[in-house]
Amino acid sequence: MDLFTAVTALAGVGPTRAKQLSTLGIETLYDLLTYFPRTYEDRTKLVRICDLEADQPACFRAMVIRGPKTAHIRKGLDLTKVTVADESAQLNLTFFNQSYVADSLLYGQEYYFYGAVRGDYTGYGMQNPVFEPLERAGTATRRIVPVYPLTAGLSSGMLRKWISQAMQLCLPELPEVLPQVVLTRCCLLPARAAYAAIHNPPDFPTLEAARRRIVFEEFFLFTCGLMQLRASRQAAETIPWTNRDLTSFLAALPFSPTGAQQRAMEEIAADLGRGRAMNRLLQGDVGSGKTLVAAAAAYLAVRNGCQAAIMAPTEILAEQHRKSLSALLAPLGIVPEVLTGSLPAAEKRRVKAGLADGSISLAVGTHALLSEDVAFANLGLVCADEQHRFGVGQRSALQAKGRNPHLLVMSATPIPRTLALMIYGDLDVSILDELPPGRQTVDTFLVGESMRARINAFIRKEAAAGRQIYVVCPAVEEQEDAASSMKSAEVWAETLQRTVFPDLRVGLLHGRRKAAEKEQIMADFAAHKLDILVATTVIEVGVDVPNATLMVIEDADRFGLSQLHQLRGRVGRGSEKSYCVLFSSNKNPETVQRLKALCRTNDGFRIAEEDLNLRGPGDFFGSRQHGLPQFKAASLTMDMAVLKEAQASAAQAMADPDLVRDPCFPLLRRRIRTLFRDGAVGLN
Ligand code: ADP
Ligand code: MG
Repeated sequence: MDLFTAVTALAGVGPTRAKQLSTLGIETLYDLLTYFPRTYEDRTKLVRICDLEADQPACFRAMVIRGPKTAHIRKGLDLTKVTVADESAQLNLTFFNQSYVADSLLYGQEYYFYGAVRGDYTGYGMQNPVFEPLERAGTATRRIVPVYPLTAGLSSGMLRKWISQAMQLCLPELPEVLPQVVLTRCCLLPARAAYAAIHNPPDFPTLEAARRRIVFEEFFLFTCGLMQLRASRQAAETIPWTNRDLTSFLAALPFSPTGAQQRAMEEIAADLGRGRAMNRLLQGDVGSGKTLVAAAAAYLAVRNGCQAAIMAPTEILAEQHRKSLSALLAPLGIVPEVLTGSLPAAEKRRVKAGLADGSISLAVGTHALLSEDVAFANLGLVCADEQHRFGVGQRSALQAKGRNPHLLVMSATPIPRTLALMIYGDLDVSILDELPPGRQTVDTFLVGESMRARINAFIRKEAAAGRQIYVVCPAVEEQEDAASSMKSAEVWAETLQRTVFPDLRVGLLHGRRKAAEKEQIMADFAAHKLDILVATTVIEVGVDVPNATLMVIEDADRFGLSQLHQLRGRVGRGSEKSYCVLFSSNKNPETVQRLKALCRTNDGFRIAEEDLNLRGPGDFFGSRQHGLPQFKAASLTMDMAVLKEAQASAAQAMADPDLVRDPCFPLLRRRIRTLFRDGAVGLN
């Protein structure tokens, strides 16, 4: 019997139960040990019957003063009634189909009970409370009781029983995974004590200490894993690029770079000269000028005799990149070429041939760049834009087309530093936290339905002035449940076109349309063949329509702050004053505060911090897949302090030459190795 024994070894777990458990991800005894309670019920405190509050479960001590009496109501329904009392009051208890109660509750005896009182027209009472005799209390009463996340067919009681069996069988075997010095330095409970207490806490301070230790363990292992990943990537050797002079690149620019751009370019140039493959994330708000930095890197690639490839998530974006890169680099003799799926066959052949023989030095493309028949003569730099749309796999597929090419990943989602460390822990980070000068802010307003007519008039005014408008809705189709009055893009587009703006050209864009259709609509909007574009969040990713000056967001409370900020970044890209209108009829003070934060500032990083504090990282990116790691006990919102502590400790421990002699070392190494293997922790 060891940690990896299957759950079927436990009494009461047969094939059916095992199957139910496996839907919870529980296969082994170890899985049971690491199946953490969702919450706890405090059954330690005793209240008097007269102090019981309706619907608030509580523990009390009382004597049976009448009954128990069982009545057979009809087939399948037996009622057992008991009256109990303490010095403050009496209380009627009713048990449904639990006739054994009649034998286990004895007249004149005292018990501990746990349950909630409910009041109805028949009076005050309690149904199906749990109880224990005074001398055998401590399982269902007078204790902090763990509550587990469940699946159909399993009860918390079953899980409690099996977990306690598993603890008896293998807790003594549970090895320590944290180094002794770390335990001491950070005042952490040892593994066995922590796992015992998380499932069966003797008191709340011990529970807190147990939780802290387990959260710490998760963060510690994760950080160690990231550090290793990073070390192994950095070890990939390259020939150092000796030419790192950007003078002529900078001289050819139509403007001078911001301080932040300057810093990022210097960081990149330094990476490129190290003789190790660069792995850098360039993070910057929409409009912070990431393209310029990417162009600088591409310029250096070419100056050092290498090719560069820039990968964009859509064909329109690829084309947009080609244009802006061409503006920056063509004067220096570097002409970017586009490679996308929809290119005519002959053109595709030409570009592929150019990449293969090295005559094309800079390629901008979509996934088409990844296809097998695309070969590069000497790919030295890979740059991926809008990071979250590409998985690690795709990044490395493109990297594999060169010999350890440098990697630059660009993301427009501002992420608080602590989180960035978590998500991109295997990358170095450069941050563009400064916008180019003269950039106007987008004036943002929070309004309710009473403003509808005025906003419609405003839309009309902007359209009449030859400008364009985005209208963003949270859903595609009308919601089925009546409770939700969310505006659907489909229905709303039709309403606007038919009844509000019959004379304007209204388009509809949502994620369920085919990629080619989406691109066509976006292209139509960019070419001003549409005045109003009704869309879901699919427009979030960076298409530039400088003529769009107004964004109206319906049911704005449905979006995350960062997401709203991203959306808002679609306007204010030209020289005209731009506006963002947030519609929300949600009166919840917290929601209002959240949305007002957006009206107050245009600083993506500040908004991101605020969003994280208010909603937590789960909602951080809206519903989009973001590749945040899944932790069993740790919360990325609540446990930030532990995260920082664990990150610092992991760095110290990994640098400590004595680590290999710590008894924890073999297990630590094994756990780190498996961390990134089975997809349990996704890195994007
Ligand atoms: P991002 O990709 O970070 O959203 P872009 O690279 O598309 O931003 O740049 C946004 C706009 O700002 C572009 O029109 C670009 O030409 C302009 N720009 C970039 N850097 C500067 C700068 N230092 N000074 C003035 N304008 C700049
Ligand atoms: Mg961009």
